[in-house]
Amino acid sequence: MLPDIEKLLELQIADKEIRRLQDEVAALPRRVAVIEQKLAGTKAHLEKVRAAAKNDDANRKKFEANIKDLQGKISKYRDQSLDVKTNEQYKALLHEIQFAEQEVRLNEDRILEVMVNVDARDKEVKAAEAELKAEMAEIEKEKEEARRVTAEDQKKLSEWNGKRDGLRHGISEDVLRQYERVAKFRGTGLAEVREQKCMGCQVMLRPQTYNEVRNGATVMACESCQRIYYFNPANEVKPEQEVVTVTGRKRARPKADAPQAWFYRPDYGEEGEVLLVFTNNGGSSTRRVYEMHTGRQVGGVLEREGAYRLAFPEDLTESALRLNGHWDEKEIDEWGAEIPSNSLDLLHKDLLAIRREHKVGKHAAPPAAQSAAQ
Ligand SMILES: [Zn+2]
Repeated sequence: MLPDIEKLLELQIADKEIRRLQDEVAALPRRVAVIEQKLAGTKAHLEKVRAAAKNDDANRKKFEANIKDLQGKISKYRDQSLDVKTNEQYKALLHEIQFAEQEVRLNEDRILEVMVNVDARDKEVKAAEAELKAEMAEIEKEKEEARRVTAEDQKKLSEWNGKRDGLRHGISEDVLRQYERVAKFRGTGLAEVREQKCMGCQVMLRPQTYNEVRNGATVMACESCQRIYYFNPANEVKPEQEVVTVTGRKRARPKADAPQAWFYRPDYGEEGEVLLVFTNNGGSSTRRVYEMHTGRQVGGVLEREGAYRLAFPEDLTESALRLNGHWDEKEIDEWGAEIPSNSLDLLHKDLLAIRREHKVGKHAAPPAAQSAAQ
């Protein structure tokens, strides 16, 4: 592969990660804003129920004052009734008293109505207060989280930007210009050529162009989508590589672009034979190492930036054999310090199948050809 193309592939990873981080940083304040809006709604609701409770209270006081006034009047009428001279006057006063008493009862009923309401109102206010408190705590947590993630992202961004600048300097000017121009309009500036097809736009290449791309002597771009071509021989399935095992069943081949890859290494320093598993997680990747025979984990989980092929080049030696196997990283975490025996058996069986292929298959590829390059 041309050095320019190799660097472009790395640049593409950096560009993608930078974009992802920028999007994440931009999304965080929006998330906080949504919660703040909800919080404003809860505050308004609380104010409303508090105002209603206050209104009830004022009404109760008003009714109580009315009653006091009326009782004052009643006792005044009673005093006056002692001094009346005529039956007519007495009757009139009695009428006034009866009317005032009726008014007192009316006000008492109203007070009762308000009192019945008080319990429900209290509950409403308390519930709204609790909701507000919970939401305020939530928003503080969200803000704190947003601040933390933003700071982390900014740090990662500056690292990636540095990496990106370094890569850009190493690439020929016109190649870089082409890549960035196409990436701006199409999202990606590179396209893999596989089985004589541009994987960017699915257009078939002319045989001569295809051969030139495979030879990798010059940088070439797709005539149809303008993306710069790259060719990865590991992704090309050659008929002579499809080996049949003793049992007549073909061994399934792990996918080159799978997000997780298991490898066997016979020569892993002091450990000797080990199994390695790499998992890509967006912009970073992890590595776990296990003893080949016991399945016991050696050391901890190592995480690095970039896809595993770029992040752990020192592990992917000529002697590394790619195995079939995929488990959720969560599940692997749950394994703890040891690969469960049924999973370990599967990996061992696959290794056996590879070895059998090499022994039996006439056209079998040498270990190196189907190892780390795959
Ligand atoms: Zn194309």
